[in-house]
Amino acid sequence: MLSVSCPSCGAPVAFRSHASVMAVCEFCRTTVHKDAGAVQDLGRLSEVLEDYSPIQIGTSGKVGGRGFTVIGRIQLRYAAGMWNEWYLMYDDGGSGWLGDASGQYTVTTARPLPSGWPDFERVRVGAQYDLGAGLFTVSDRRVATCVGGQGELPFRVGDGWQARVADLRRGPAFATLDYSDGDTPVLYTGFATTLGTMQCQLLRDDEAIKASAGRYRGKVQALQCPSCGSPIGYLPGMAANLVCPACAARIDAATPQAEVLAAGERAARVPLTLTLGAVARIGNQDYHLIGAMKRLDDDGEEWTEYLLYTPRGQFFWLVETGEGWWRSEVLDEWPEPGTPAAPKVALHNIAYERTLDYPARVSWAAGAFNWKVAAGERVRVREFERGQTSLAAEMNDEELTWSRSTPVADDQVRAWFKLPAPPTAPRGKSAMSPNDLRWRFLLWMLGLNAVPLLFNFFDTVVWLAAGIFALFISFDAKKD
Ligand SMILES: [Zn+2]
Ligand SMILES: [Zn+2]
Repeated sequence: MLSVSCPSCGAPVAFRSHASVMAVCEFCRTTVHKDAGAVQDLGRLSEVLEDYSPIQIGTSGKVGGRGFTVIGRIQLRYAAGMWNEWYLMYDDGGSGWLGDASGQYTVTTARPLPSGWPDFERVRVGAQYDLGAGLFTVSDRRVATCVGGQGELPFRVGDGWQARVADLRRGPAFATLDYSDGDTPVLYTGFATTLGTMQCQLLRDDEAIKASAGRYRGKVQALQCPSCGSPIGYLPGMAANLVCPACAARIDAATPQAEVLAAGERAARVPLTLTLGAVARIGNQDYHLIGAMKRLDDDGEEWTEYLLYTPRGQFFWLVETGEGWWRSEVLDEWPEPGTPAAPKVALHNIAYERTLDYPARVSWAAGAFNWKVAAGERVRVREFERGQTSLAAEMNDEELTWSRSTPVADDQVRAWFKLPAPPTAPRGKSAMSPNDLRWRFLLWMLGLNAVPLLFNFFDTVVWLAAGIFALFISFDAKKD
């Protein structure tokens, strides 16, 4: 480990990795460049924004049996939110990156890239490229700005530095084409993962996060709409794209000063089956309903999507259509071949057939979301089906996502949210209680016995009385 003195304040600045070229002084935030022994002051890099990530400099873990330590971080911001790139030093001397976007993690390492790549401007979302390990599909393309940093980093970066990146996926595999240095991209490949899989140690716990942020991670907070003053429930650092339920203003709450992105138009109150702020008990966990939106296809058919969140960090969408309810989860592992134009795709070796292809437009939204949402936002949806399960690819110019939906019974949704039974009871045989059935049987028995009654009064009455007695005993037993 190399330790140098900060040219600005004199404090010791450590370089643990040979691959690091700069480090941020912990004390005065000066960025210190390590170049062939010479140390230069490159100006300051902003303090990172509190994002409630459990990862910190010093966190360790394992990827494919290789131990790593987190030694640096850059925080990047783009139109739909913010994410962290944590710089990893492996025990064997290698280095890599851990991408951390609101609890979704990817690990990558730089790899040599064959030549002949299109310019950043010509990379299209949904297009497929051969990265030397099969065809990968472009999932998003974004220009992001560095808003803060910490620790050691393998390239020179300062406030306002721009990252131009395209992410690609293939099954569980993940890759980034980084065009930040010009038209020849740098390739990073790896896969999606979780903190549990990486066996992470020295994570920040809830208390540590509260100490630095004044709040617990994953707790729904209220923010006053900067436009109209109404309270809006949101998740700091996790779901900070807000649409005010009262005035429809779009708000970016990723920074300490919530910023109004667009003023809203007051619309008539939109009736919803489930309400913002409702809590559902699912399994052993409480899920908070933090966002709701209505979407519309070109035929005018409308449906509602509710965003649910558990403080454990998982999100899912509950979708209400004319045909019932669906639970929908965004997929971290993509189906193959992963292109929405394919007639068939496969996930975990199960084939799904393409069924629908339609445009969807957000007609109304309110609450907090973990992605950029606004009325008028359009995506193209392609659905694939196998039995009751459907996979859907949603795509616009910036992003392609895959989700999997399974049906949820009406009763189930009511049980989760403790909603009363619907006002009109369903008719038909299935609605009959066991007691109703017993009464029917009793009447049927009386009717049947009325015929022999005419011929053999005494015997029939004895058996009839015994039968009625048995039935009423069972009524009483039921009441207990
Ligand atoms: Zn310093
Ligand atoms: Zn408002």
